[in-house]
Amino acid sequence: FFIAFEGGDGAGKSTQVQAIAEWIRGKGHEVVVTREPGATPIGKRLRAILLDVSSAGLSDRAEALLYAADRAEHVDSLVRPALARGAVVITDRYIDSSVAYQGAGRDLSPTEIARINRWATGGLVPNLTVLLDVSPETARERFTEAPDRLESEPAEFHQRVRTGFLTLAAADPARYLVVDAGQQPDEVTTVVRHHLDRVLPL
Ligand code: C5P
Repeated sequence: FFIAFEGGDGAGKSTQVQAIAEWIRGKGHEVVVTREPGATPIGKRLRAILLDVSSAGLSDRAEALLYAADRAEHVDSLVRPALARGAVVITDRYIDSSVAYQGAGRDLSPTEIARINRWATGGLVPNLTVLLDVSPETARERFTEAPDRLESEPAEFHQRVRTGFLTLAAADPARYLVVDAGQQPDEVTTVVRHHLDRVLPL
């Protein structure tokens, strides 16, 4: 079973991924927690290029392809092998992040971004995508560390990203759980757990 957590910066994805992973492990299942970009050795090098402030001049298409390359390596070397041995895989970001950031955010065609990523992943789609939806203003208040390259983008960029995610969720309601991530973290975890109780084949 393959679960992706998606959402803007500061939506609380990593906190929720950890909480849900612990909960599923408590039921006696192997859970592999992973993330994009940067889960593999090659991916870590790509992540460094993508997030370094010195990459400010990176072209939009090159950026989209580097994210897709990170994802291809991630799926081939980590996600598919884990799914094949029966583990539950939870990833912090997946294809929808590219459609929202490199598509809606950067003004490339979301359809084309989806297409290159379908190819990059050999068509691997999550069984469930949890969208943690929060306004960019609320998210910004949560930042504690120095901003990376993306977090320095203007508010309009993050607003386009949010709309990009919500558009994806509206187009495929069967695969999505949209959660108001402006709530307290334990409230968000409860909503996700209730949903997984129904859809997780455990
Ligand atoms: O989720 P995480 O904080 O690791 O993401 C790192 C940065 O990469 C974030 O600032 C996020 O906005 C950006 N990002 C992106 N396009 C993606 C995935 C992440 O711009 N497809």
